[in-house]
This record gives sequence, C-alpha cells and structure tokens, in this order.
Amino acid sequence: MKDRSKSAEPAGASRSDAGVRRPRGRESKAARKARTAEILARLHGEYPDARCSLQHANPYELLVATILSAQCTDERVNQVTPALFARYADVASLAGARRDELEAMIRSTGFYRNKAKSLLGMAGAVVDRHDGRIPDTMDALVRLPGVGRKTANVVLGNAFGKDEGIVVDTHVTRLSRRLRLTRERDAVKIENDLIELVPREDWTDVAHLFIEHGRAVCKAPTPRCEVCSLADICPSSRV
Ligand code: SF4
Repeated sequence: MKDRSKSAEPAGASRSDAGVRRPRGRESKAARKARTAEILARLHGEYPDARCSLQHANPYELLVATILSAQCTDERVNQVTPALFARYADVASLAGARRDELEAMIRSTGFYRNKAKSLLGMAGAVVDRHDGRIPDTMDALVRLPGVGRKTANVVLGNAFGKDEGIVVDTHVTRLSRRLRLTRERDAVKIENDLIELVPREDWTDVAHLFIEHGRAVCKAPTPRCEVCSLADICPSSRV
C-alpha cells in the first residue's frame, strides 16, 4: 500500500519529509546513503509484496527458471516451467534429458538451443560435483555452466535467503542511473555501487522494488515522473 504521508509534499520540492534532498550537483556519500534509505522506505511502502516473479518451489526450479529468463519475460518463463518441471522433476532427471526434447519444451523462451545447452551442462555439473544438490555459495554457483553472477544472486537471495549480492537487470540498471545511485553502465560496477549504499538486509529486496517501480512507473523509455513517489528526491525527475 502506498505511504501517502510521504507524498504530501508538492512534486518538485527539493527536500522530503525525512530531510532528504534532491541532489543538485555533487552529492556526498552520506547524503546519497540517506537518500537511498528514503527511496527504499518509500518503495517498501508502495510495493509491500514485491518478490521474485519467477514461479518456483525449490532452488532447482528457480535456477532453471532464471536460466530460461535471459532475454525473455518472466511471464513467458512461467508459462513454460510447469510442464518442464512435471517432465524433469529434479536435477538428475534434467541431466538425463534428450536435448531435442528439452529444446522443444523451452523453444518459446527464445535462444532455446543455448539455453538447453546451459541447462544440460548445469544439471550434469550439479550431479557430478554436488551430488545432485544445487550449491548455495556464489563460488560454486558461478562455476556451473550457464550460470553468471546475476543468476547466482537470484538463486542465493530468493531460494536460499542469502543476501550475497544484488541482482542487476535492465530495470535495476535504469533506476539506479536515473536515481543517480550510480553513474556506471557495467552490471558488476553498478552492483558494487549499490552494495555501498544499500543495507545488506535489503540486497535481495532492492532488486524486486526497482523492478516493480520500473515496470509500473519509471518505465523505459519514458518515465512517469508526474505520478512517481520519488519525484522530489530524484535528480532525473521531469516535474
Ligand atoms: S522521478 Fe521519474 S526518473 Fe525519477 S524515479 Fe521517478 S519516474 Fe523515474
């Protein structure tokens, strides 16, 4: 539910109820941290149910869904995974899948040949190296075929409840830059900047909050600043 007490100030004001300023020019790190805390507080109030939108029941299912979500909407992935998990209920059965059958099942998510290769490689490696259990450390996850830091962060944060890093996707990149929490374009550098600003207990949630706000309000290419609860503390606000 939206926290209306914090949006009572006229759009375009330079200081929020919490004493946080919209930066004009150079902003100290302390001021940026305070502004980040205010941004998170408002978004938590606005999107109290923000969570991973990839449907999953366990770490195996989330890892598979996240690999499939590359260059694809979560909605499309969620249409494909119920049948996929019915056919391959665990990592061992996925490791033994026929490639042509797997490709046919995931075709609609795009890049299906590469994704099938990643899924088979990942499943085989989990069986061989981890006795069929999805590992719960960053080091082990990023050593699996087809698993990068972003995918590992999704799995660690949402399936294992471990705040090891921050997922940086297209929405997190766009909002972080518009809100001037980073000036970087590279995902790892953006993640490092956010880690400096966001309390560790919010490392998983910040991605969900930015994704929700990015889908609903701070859209690409045109942000809806006129209805944005962050307008008075956002350097990119058009109002
Ligand atoms: S004020 Fe505009 S640019 Fe800033 S976060 Fe809101 S919608 Fe995005």
